[in-house]
Amino acid sequence: MLILVFTDLDGSLLDHADYSYEGARPALERIAREGWALVFVTSKTRSEVEHLQRRMGIDGPFVVENGAAAFFPSSLTGLDIPEAKQDGSYRAVVFGRPYDEVRRFVEEMRGEYGLRGFGDMEAREIAELTDLPLEDAERARRREFTEPFLMAEPERLQDMKRDAAARGLAITTGGRLYHLMSAEQSKGRAVRKVQEILAGSGPKPVVSLGLGDSPNDKEMLQVVDRPIVIPRPDGRVMDVGRDDVVIAPEPGSRGWSSALLDVVSGLSS
Ligand SMILES: [Mg+2]
Repeated sequence: MLILVFTDLDGSLLDHADYSYEGARPALERIAREGWALVFVTSKTRSEVEHLQRRMGIDGPFVVENGAAAFFPSSLTGLDIPEAKQDGSYRAVVFGRPYDEVRRFVEEMRGEYGLRGFGDMEAREIAELTDLPLEDAERARRREFTEPFLMAEPERLQDMKRDAAARGLAITTGGRLYHLMSAEQSKGRAVRKVQEILAGSGPKPVVSLGLGDSPNDKEMLQVVDRPIVIPRPDGRVMDVGRDDVVIAPEPGSRGWSSALLDVVSGLSS
């Protein structure tokens, strides 16, 4: 059996406070040993994901900026991806809109809603806001499709969502920030496509797992075979609207690891 593991990063595989994945070692070792696919599905940028993959010693496909694009390393042969475009050393399937277009909305609505996006910030400010080290904040600024932002009056989010929708844009809520993006993209849509491509690559039966902690993960958890919700550090648990959801026993990387191992042991028995 080929297992596809689709996972959110911040607050799921990575601990909310310090972005550590130490607690996930047991499940990460199992995934490596079995040759399962570990696909990051994150609001992070391509630059951030590449850096994390190098640190963790993994490669393989990944989804960036809340479902804006899926990248398949060109070294992965045997995949049939007719809709992909060559982009450096990847074949990319793009669902999002170019960053400049998305960013224009923030500039126009800044006064109305008191917006401040990553494009308005130096890396140092992003580092303070996110608790990322400065060099990771630099990577977070290298955006291609979406804009994370803060809002002076969060109670006006519904109004702003309406204005965004009129422009074909959508707003989703992550662990720390709001994200402005194309209405055509979502983690769920990207995961469905990656599942289809990877499952089409071989004769083995495929089971997909999804792990996430925030509303922007909800659609991803609706399209996988086995959804796992990671609790937030304050104990809140997102409602996915499925009654077969597994809730991890604790937040962050440790909960990620034990829930994943639990679910896969149920699959093989
Ligand atoms: Mg998260």
